[in-house]
Amino acid sequence: MAGDPRYAPGQVKDGRVICGAKNKKAEPCGLSPAAGATRCGRHGGNSPQAKKAAERRVEEQRARDALERGVRTLGLPVDIDPGKALLDEIHWTAGHVQWLREKVQDLADEELVWGRTQTENGIGPQGAVDVTTEKAGPSVWYELYSKERDHLAKVCALALRAGIEERKVKLAESQGALVAEAIRRILAALNLTPAQQAMVPEIVPQQLRLLAGGNAL
Ligand SMILES: [Zn+2]
Repeated sequence: MAGDPRYAPGQVKDGRVICGAKNKKAEPCGLSPAAGATRCGRHGGNSPQAKKAAERRVEEQRARDALERGVRTLGLPVDIDPGKALLDEIHWTAGHVQWLREKVQDLADEELVWGRTQTENGIGPQGAVDVTTEKAGPSVWYELYSKERDHLAKVCALALRAGIEERKVKLAESQGALVAEAIRRILAALNLTPAQQAMVPEIVPQQLRLLAGGNAL
């Protein structure tokens, strides 16, 4: 009888999965299921439908494994649903990318190449020094932007490969970007002092990350 828990598919007996189909003695069959199936060959485990379902299960498992591996590689929290962890990461990273993109666009051409890359404070032979090294290289902002953009592309590709719908990935991306844009507008309107502005690069990413983790959107 369908739905009877005694004959349910996928049941475990003595530590192994068995075919639970009802046999002539009205007991669960007890044979090993066909590969990837929930029933043995005698109870339909080799039928075309069963084979198709088995293939689908194998595929789903593979996608789940890839997803979990990816989430671990990225150092994301594994105690929540890996799909959600990825979407959160996309959300937060997209916000950060958008934020950095605007930062880079605000830079003058010469700043983009001659970025201030290093500031040293200390005591030299002439007394206290505060040396800012101007290095011929991409600005720190530009480097951060490229790095974060690569990361975003990687996370998005991983999410799509793992079977997360493209629609959801795109949504997480655009929501994150919208938030970053709103923050930038608010900060611009506030007319911050240089000291306050100096705290922005630290505070904004931090808050964006909290937003993603708390899933406020
Ligand atoms: Zn069986």
